Amino acid sequence: MKNTTALIIVDLNNDFMPGGALGAEGADAVLPVINELAAGDAYGLVVATQDWHPEEHVSFDQWPPHCVAGTPGAELHPHLDDANIDVIIRKGFDAHADSYSGFYNEHGETNGLAELLRARRIEAVDIVGIATDYCVKATAIDAATKAGFRTRVLLNGCRGVGLEPNHIPDAIAAMRAAGVEVVD
Ligand SMILES: [Zn+2]
Repeated sequence: MKNTTALIIVDLNNDFMPGGALGAEGADAVLPVINELAAGDAYGLVVATQDWHPEEHVSFDQWPPHCVAGTPGAELHPHLDDANIDVIIRKGFDAHADSYSGFYNEHGETNGLAELLRARRIEAVDIVGIATDYCVKATAIDAATKAGFRTRVLLNGCRGVGLEPNHIPDAIAAMRAAGVEVVD
């Protein structure tokens, strides 16, 4: 029987790693966890999202410039084993629209991820990556609601930013409220 669950790896760009423009503390600790998940036979498809911005991007009003297309900070971390990744979905490439979610940008335009998953007959998704309280949260909520997939977030493969102490717990609560199964 074909495996109808996909693994979605959110934004392991160098700029979100320690030392990057928007580095999350301890984020590189998820790399071996994610490599092992992606190498196993639990998934019918493995997709990585990649934050990928033009030099002038609307998100740079709120955040330091990061993940500028063609720069080393925009590349996925070299220790992410790309041999196990089937497809890379870029997001945030429109200068006037940010896209925390791997599925849809802030204007509701698709990044192509939902269509890809449907074309591959995927019914459920497991989500890991960075950051729990931003792009993982947005991707998981869109997966469960707008895109309509059975959705789990595997917290041992995620790291958050946690600018305020409540941000990560609040993100987990918001995902659960949207129907996402959050697995410790
Ligand atoms: Zn970004």
